[in-house]
Amino acid sequence: MNLSEDVVVAFRDHYGADPDIVVRAPGRVNLIGEHVDYNGGFVLPMAIERAMWIAVRFRPDDEVHVLSCDFGQTARFTLSDFEYQKPHWCEYIKGVAAALKKRGHTLQGWDGAMLGNVPRGSGLSSSAALELAAAKAFCEVSNIPWDPVEMAVVGQEAENDWVGVNCGIMDQMISACGMAGHAYLLDCRSLEGTHVPLPTGVKIVILDTATRRGLVDSAYNERRSQCEEAAAFFGVDLLRDVSPEMFFAREAELPELTCKRARHVITEDVRTLAAADAMRMNDSETLGKLMWESHVSLRDDFEVSNEALNTLVDLAMAHESCLGARMTGAGFGGCAVALVREDSAAAFEREVAAAYQQAVDLEPAVYVTGATDGAQRL
Ligand code: ADP
Ligand code: MG
Repeated sequence: MNLSEDVVVAFRDHYGADPDIVVRAPGRVNLIGEHVDYNGGFVLPMAIERAMWIAVRFRPDDEVHVLSCDFGQTARFTLSDFEYQKPHWCEYIKGVAAALKKRGHTLQGWDGAMLGNVPRGSGLSSSAALELAAAKAFCEVSNIPWDPVEMAVVGQEAENDWVGVNCGIMDQMISACGMAGHAYLLDCRSLEGTHVPLPTGVKIVILDTATRRGLVDSAYNERRSQCEEAAAFFGVDLLRDVSPEMFFAREAELPELTCKRARHVITEDVRTLAAADAMRMNDSETLGKLMWESHVSLRDDFEVSNEALNTLVDLAMAHESCLGARMTGAGFGGCAVALVREDSAAAFEREVAAAYQQAVDLEPAVYVTGATDGAQRL
């Protein structure tokens, strides 16, 4: 799982010398608080054991040379003069450089070898892991003080403005700010976060449906505008500012779909805050129950689940060691996350994977993980 030594070996093989430093930044899974980030609400992600590692050697000039071990490709650019070329892993690194420069930072060049094990495009945010690892590399070689929140914003800017993917801030915030053994309760409006300890005696199990989001972009934009419509109805900018009392007093006045979308967002904020409270009390039963309620709300009100996710979550819930499970991420495929009793996590993995394979004839990837630290120099 830890690739810090492998990345050093890869660096030596490629450059014929030792790197100066190794940096790491993790992927993430969101325990609860789904489709609320763009409504200014609360999310509760944690940094996972899978990450991006970059072995880095300082350069005296302004060239960046990078080997991607996973793609078996090299790329290079000059910091004083670079532009967007075409969709490519190096554009994430250029995007980070551009966002840092825009903030007035002076950047030094480096040689790097990078190696990651966050599955790409599964919804565990391999892109944020890459962005934050690149930001860490630039900050180390250029002597820029590491401000995790600033660097999360740099990563998001790289992805929004350079790569051209319209993502929220959650992935970058947790990859920058994660703490071992803890999830991170993040207020997506103020960007204030609190570390919340994971309950004892449980494991987090990520189950990949092996189905991929198809219509996700158009559905995502549609959900966003439905949320904006509901916020406008209540006379606020963000649904975050509509309390459950305000909502339930007037829900009958809303068009049916708008009402369902808003109901998900407003009740999800309540569940997420309750989940953080349950974690503080070491109450894994309540946490699990809230995760399941979140799934039902995403399935029935927000309507972003799919057959495969529903099947996998139902199979997980039916297992005796499971305290709660839900779809996680944007939806329409991707991963589910389950809270499982530690002593029977191995049986859970095996039996739920087998049952899913039998039910839908797809093999689910399974990742059992603890919560790890955010971006760091090792
Ligand atoms: P995810 O849901 O995993 O974030 P994205 O499509 O947002 O999926 O990001 C995946 C992209 O990030 C890849 O196409 C690649 O350009 C880059 N990337 C992720 N992991 C790696 C890696 N290990 N090595 C090189 N590039 C990577
Ligand atoms: Mg991504």
